[in-house]
Amino acid sequence: TFDTLMIGGGPAGAAAAVYAARKGIRTGVAAERFGGQVLDTMGIENLISVPRTEGPKLAAALEEHVKEYEVDIMNLQRAVQLVPGQPGEEHEVAFESGARLRAKTLVLATGARWREMGVPGEAEYRNKGVAYCPHCDGPLFKGKRVAVIGGGNSGVEAAIDLAGIVGHVTLIEFMDEMRADAVLQKKLRSLPNVEIILGARTTEVNGDGKRVDGLTYEERATGELRRVELEGIFVQIGLVPNTEWLQESPIELSERGEIVVDARGMTSIPGIFAAGDVTTVPYKQIVIAMGEGSKAALGAFDHLIRS
Ligand code: FAD
Repeated sequence: TFDTLMIGGGPAGAAAAVYAARKGIRTGVAAERFGGQVLDTMGIENLISVPRTEGPKLAAALEEHVKEYEVDIMNLQRAVQLVPGQPGEEHEVAFESGARLRAKTLVLATGARWREMGVPGEAEYRNKGVAYCPHCDGPLFKGKRVAVIGGGNSGVEAAIDLAGIVGHVTLIEFMDEMRADAVLQKKLRSLPNVEIILGARTTEVNGDGKRVDGLTYEERATGELRRVELEGIFVQIGLVPNTEWLQESPIELSERGEIVVDARGMTSIPGIFAAGDVTTVPYKQIVIAMGEGSKAALGAFDHLIRS
């Protein structure tokens, strides 16, 4: 059994492990894929003090840092069930492999995933023009033409943000109106280099075999197919928290399925903490996940010495 066990080995889980281990408590990390979303990223240019790195390199550095300490890393372990203990008792997590682990405190850091369009070309051109994070990849498209898919708050915010960097933005929304807040829509419509296409269903990401060179959509009213020439596509149709495994547990989730945490990273169950993209904390970024993971580990340590 552990004093503290992290579920998830992305930036949040790794940071939590380092902070916990430095307190000299029995620390473990169980992750389906150590490294997390970082493994799917190419250029990372906003991890403060590291002007430029690449996803796989950062994932290796995370592991190296955790291994500086006495931490049990259990990779390729997918959690399927959380069984919270009564106050003062240990919590238990069951894994797909059949293993069960017990710990006095937990840090849930199972992250999130971008919702994909699921159209031909999307997977093929991922990181070759298809992007999901405007804060991360926007500057790679300086002066170029891009589309943003999705007219919710995140899509419209992304389009406003990108319009200041790229040459031209086409926003494509499936419905006949955007769902974003009115102030955001007004701001978007005021920008000279933005075109908004409503009632449009993206059907294909086009490319030359190496990079994206266009996008095909269906005009829903007429059923006609149209093509937009561009260099980049930002998909902004939602971020899905990896909390399916918690749905049967009593832990409080938000409407979007994110784990609700307080200022110390504690969930609705005492002794169970959460950090990173899986929580209600806004702005899903590496540096934020690392900070939140560190905070949750300190919260868990504080909880341990008080109980
Ligand atoms: P994750 O990185 O999602 O890690 C979650 C961990 O939990 C993984 O180890 C996963 O395998 C594990 N896990 C999930 N479910 C289970 C389960 N049931 N049981 C056990 N383990 C589980 N951010 C930036 O700051 N800069 C960038 O340039 C940047 N670029 C990005 C590019 C792409 C393509 C993507 C997808 C994201 C990018 N981000 C970037 C966002 C950044 O990667 C995330 O904010 C960050 O990784 C979140 O860290 P996390 O530890 O909370 O979650």
